[in-house]
Amino acid sequence: PGYAAGTVRGQATTAVLERPPLAALEAKNISAWFGDHQVLDRVSLTMPAGVITSLIGPSGCGKSTFLRILNRMHELVPSASLAGEVLIDHEDIYSADRKLVDARKSIGMVFQKPNPFPAMSIYDNVIAGLRLTGTQVGRAERDFLVESCLTKAGLWKEVRDRLRAPGGGLSGGQQQRLCIARSLAVTPRVLLMDEPCSALDPTSTRVIEETMLELVNDVTIVIVTHNMQQAQRVSTQCAFFLASQGKPGGIVEYGDTEAMFSKPIDSRTYDYVNGVF
Ligand code: ADP
Ligand code: MG
Repeated sequence: PGYAAGTVRGQATTAVLERPPLAALEAKNISAWFGDHQVLDRVSLTMPAGVITSLIGPSGCGKSTFLRILNRMHELVPSASLAGEVLIDHEDIYSADRKLVDARKSIGMVFQKPNPFPAMSIYDNVIAGLRLTGTQVGRAERDFLVESCLTKAGLWKEVRDRLRAPGGGLSGGQQQRLCIARSLAVTPRVLLMDEPCSALDPTSTRVIEETMLELVNDVTIVIVTHNMQQAQRVSTQCAFFLASQGKPGGIVEYGDTEAMFSKPIDSRTYDYVNGVF
């Protein structure tokens, strides 16, 4: 698996296509604010390499904020501030000598609403990240990368004959897989997915879930989901977020997904996973 060991039209591919090793992601004592409104309070979570971690919990408890902190998107909001550390393989993504572009390249993000560049071709959508990160790739390598990423995203067979068609012409589920392919093109080590199936029908949802289960051999995945069946189908580990009575959000319970659903420790987890709130 991976992008490595590829040969395109007789040419050996170069480093850009090589798969980086799997990485663990670790959040330590993350607190977050918008202005003086604190939305997360000292959240720590280890997201192990090569597994899918689900973040669950009611709306407004800070799951998306937490996810955005994991790839330095939180700082794009002018009023936002944070405390704590995010380590990818023990290296702080917020350290002063680490460039923002490196953090973004190593930690990809897929959003709830599929957001390919609609007028741009499917082919160009996949490699859009290379332009943004200033990565130079030859034509043959580009072709190989596009095929490889679309294959990994489970979309290659459906689009191989229309790579020049606009991304916006695809169905919702296909657009989401195109976004996954786009995020893979910069060979991230972690893929963050914020409710990636909420806007999709059940069939497309299952296709994306199968894609995730394949992908996790190559890239560590963190997913926010409101779908309890989905959390159980895809994730090895699960964290339950809650913000009680005007307090900032935090993790009530985390651990093995199977255990959390079958015998949760906290009564609030029990109520949430059983649909009481
Ligand atoms: P979740 O993803 O769990 O629904 P969010 O992380 O989106 O939760 O939101 C957590 C809290 O932060 C909420 O109270 C929300 O209103 C607030 N919030 C989120 N984004 C912003 C923003 N850009 N500006 C101000 N407050 C925000
Ligand atoms: Mg959210």
